Amino acid sequence: MTKDIATPGRTKEILEKHGFSFKKSLGQNFLIDVNILNQIADAAGTNENDGVVEVGPGIGALTEQFAKRVKQVEAFEIDGRLIPILEDTLSPYDNVTIHNEDVLKADVKNVINEKMHDVHEIAVVGNLPYYVTTPILMKLLEQRLPVTRIIVMIQKEVADRIAAKPASKEYGSLSIAVQYYSNASTVTIVPKTVFVPRPKVDSAVLKLEIRKTPPVHVKNEEFFFKVVRASFAQRRKTIWNNLQHNLLGKERKELLAQSLKQAGIEPQRRGETLSMEEFANLSNELYDFTSGLSSL
Ligand code: SAM
Repeated sequence: MTKDIATPGRTKEILEKHGFSFKKSLGQNFLIDVNILNQIADAAGTNENDGVVEVGPGIGALTEQFAKRVKQVEAFEIDGRLIPILEDTLSPYDNVTIHNEDVLKADVKNVINEKMHDVHEIAVVGNLPYYVTTPILMKLLEQRLPVTRIIVMIQKEVADRIAAKPASKEYGSLSIAVQYYSNASTVTIVPKTVFVPRPKVDSAVLKLEIRKTPPVHVKNEEFFFKVVRASFAQRRKTIWNNLQHNLLGKERKELLAQSLKQAGIEPQRRGETLSMEEFANLSNELYDFTSGLSSL
């Protein structure tokens, strides 16, 4: 039986055998701790009837753990230099397909629909490249993929912002965007020492349980997110100032005053104190007043 890929010794051996050099620009920090990989795999809650979509397999450390646990793994890796290495390291497993593609451009939904009908539940997993964490997560969520949960390693600071509750200093438009689609929580904090090369910041494993329906009713999603982003544009400003300066303009003061009143929100409050429900009420009120205004 071969040794796990994610031990310091075996990883070094694989990298040397293939003469691989890390590309910082692709966020390449490989995991060398099997315990952490097992925690990610446990959090995914998958079994032998399930499927996994992996973002950024690297040399296959996490891929291997899922290949052992689930029916099928579809992995997206942007770096063509890693493809022959993955063919080598994952050769003991016949249930893994590697797509040499940028996950931001790939049609993940189509791969799931075409290739994963035989699986029960699907989880998305990955030790994400930190330079594109948020775009990757938002793409996966906005596409409304037929997946049960997303388990990813990301920077701790971003995980804190994603899972934040109202009135905390981390709470902002990213918390609302992600929590609109999912129930977010941190599984564990991960030290820098379990990666090669070591990143500058601590990491965390984030769990997103995908919601079947959003937790609030919004009349227009695009407009709702516009209101949320504008409300946090300058954190120290009130909701009144932010929405006036960043969405509506001074000439629509009256409309803003009426909408806030209808939604029961004091104009002097800051965005960070509003719950998702309050943002939904406010955006629905504003939408009723402004739906004819194409400039917004
Ligand atoms: N899963 C491996 C591990 O844990 O050891 C590698 C994780 S490393 C943090 C991120 C991986 O994502 C790298 O292999 C990198 O080449 C790949 N990657 C970076 N940008 C990507 C993108 N846009 N689409 C797909 N893969 C990407």
